[in-house]
Amino acid sequence: MNRYGWMVVRAYLPALIALALAVLAMLWTSLFNHSASLNGLVPYAKWIPPFALLAALVAGLISTLRLWRWKSGKTARCRGCEGPLGRLHHGPKGDYRKCMACGGKQQV
Ligand SMILES: [Zn+2]
Repeated sequence: MNRYGWMVVRAYLPALIALALAVLAMLWTSLFNHSASLNGLVPYAKWIPPFALLAALVAGLISTLRLWRWKSGKTARCRGCEGPLGRLHHGPKGDYRKCMACGGKQQV
């Protein structure tokens, strides 16, 4: 996998983690629904999948929008590799954005 492939994987990683959390919570609630010792937690754990699925949807949409804006040239690009730049960070040497493809820091 090349650098841009890993960039896409990193971009969608929060959505994938939230999706995995939703699946695990659904499995947990279905497996332990009739267990006496964990039966008290099931009503609370049943709320995890909807929120995790919503978080996965929002994270996936944000990643898609960010990559779409980079592909159409509407966002700033890395000076070294032309990759998309991430959110603004406040560092001790000033504000910077981190390249999502190569990881380099670009001073703002
Ligand atoms: Zn770069």
